Amino acid sequence: MIANQFPSMNISSAIFDRSASNLESCPDESLPEFAFIGRSNVGKSSLLNFLAGRRELARVSRTPGFTRLINFFTMSKTWRLVDLPGYGFATGARQDSARINQAVREYLQGRPNLYCVFALVDSGLAPQAMDLEFVEWLVENSLPFVLVFTKTDKVSATTVQTNIAAFKERLAEFCESLPEILTCSAQKQLGRGALLAVIKTALAGAQAEDADSESGHPR
Ligand code: GDP
Repeated sequence: MIANQFPSMNISSAIFDRSASNLESCPDESLPEFAFIGRSNVGKSSLLNFLAGRRELARVSRTPGFTRLINFFTMSKTWRLVDLPGYGFATGARQDSARINQAVREYLQGRPNLYCVFALVDSGLAPQAMDLEFVEWLVENSLPFVLVFTKTDKVSATTVQTNIAAFKERLAEFCESLPEILTCSAQKQLGRGALLAVIKTALAGAQAEDADSESGHPR
């Protein structure tokens, strides 16, 4: 997707809604949700602050006691940004499935208003087994997702491209069609437009569907 095709989306407000430890304690399902997840240290908090244009948006998610909770933020009163706990540093790390915490699994598998998962991957690293396992789990569960390669400023552009190409090669082992792939650097403030464009496009699609169903014209 070419980001410049989309005029940038304005975020007029970003308000912390609540933290949830399971599916039951999540907010109602009235707003479209976009969830962000990655391994610890992937740059998620920095990216969320950059996206929202708020220095401290993700602060609550980093407060001790909140790191394993699902944190909801209402954006521009129209959609929710969902900050999911990182995977890979879980509970005993006995089995692959245990690495994705229970609340995250429940949320991802049971949320009808989840529009897209932004799966974050560190662009400075060769493909990591844990990231591939998580993405494979998303595919197995037929969840809509895009891949976001973070911290592109940290290594050379060539290294970023090499790591992305290697990741794509591994993805092809279990993905029939490759997902959309974005890159970003919170530090250099790059990639925001393309990320917000994904959200904007999804929201526009949902509005069009609503309008059609109200007028009795199925798409
Ligand atoms: P989280 O654990 O996934 O929430 O990651 P953080 O946002 O806390 O970032 C982890 C580390 O990576 C911190 O030292 C950040 O300063 C650094 N970091 C985050 N984003 C970037 C980036 O775009 N470029 C670089 N060079 N470092 C980053």
